[in-house]
Amino acid sequence: MSLFNSGKAKYSTIKINYSGYRKREIPEGLWLKCRKCMRTLYKKVLEKNLNICPHCNYHSPLAAPERIALLTDAGSFREMDAQLESADPLQFTDSQKYTDRLNKNKAKTGMKEGIICGTATLDGREYALGVMDFRFLAASMGSAVGEKITRLFEKALERKTPVVLVTASGGARMQEGILSLMQMPKTCAVLERLKEAGLPYIVIMTNPTYGGVTASFAVLGDLILAEPGAMIGFAGPRVIQETTNATLPKGFQTAEFLLEKGLIDRVVDRKNLRNELSLCLDYLTK
Ligand SMILES: [Zn+2]
Repeated sequence: MSLFNSGKAKYSTIKINYSGYRKREIPEGLWLKCRKCMRTLYKKVLEKNLNICPHCNYHSPLAAPERIALLTDAGSFREMDAQLESADPLQFTDSQKYTDRLNKNKAKTGMKEGIICGTATLDGREYALGVMDFRFLAASMGSAVGEKITRLFEKALERKTPVVLVTASGGARMQEGILSLMQMPKTCAVLERLKEAGLPYIVIMTNPTYGGVTASFAVLGDLILAEPGAMIGFAGPRVIQETTNATLPKGFQTAEFLLEKGLIDRVVDRKNLRNELSLCLDYLTK
């Protein structure tokens, strides 16, 4: 998984040192610290602000359920394949068993896999929506993730609707070896059918989108949007720097850098994302 070492939440809980003071109980995780500007933030304020730092506009990851609420009409989302999850075809064990790892991630996130897929409406327009969630094993692309995305495209073909995929990923799921890599051609093949049918496909890249996801369906959108500051690439900057021995340009692999280079079409603030997506769906389905 990963060429990108960013499994931690972007906001870390502050440890308050009370030595010398009377000990007080503070509910854990009430205060957070912005990873970019390092300011202290009240968790509830941050959540109300869609996980965007009010001081520096840093976009911290948004969990899939919150992202779905942001991009759909209330109550319209119908989840598909909720029970689909990774098996352990290779009986893989590294420092721990793959099945144990999966179980821990299920307990941590309440999800069965690294993506939630379904159908929904936005301002009354029907579309198919898939949202990857980095909290679940870095949203790496295992067989179940690939299968869910494939079925999402097939659903859109059946219902003749656009597809929107919100990406975040560390890349391939190494515990599934070649089966993970096979998800790249598999998702691209069904995507080709979507294009033949003339159905729009919109990608929203969030921080971070790396590896096999970037190398397949994430860069094949008719329209590719990205959140400010999102890191997007195949291999991470450190790997590239060490391999090429070259100094990387400023802002390398950020959404803004890639907008300038033409890989993505538009950088959209999370607060405007719902409106912009609604407009895009309107334009592309007329
Ligand atoms: Zn900040």
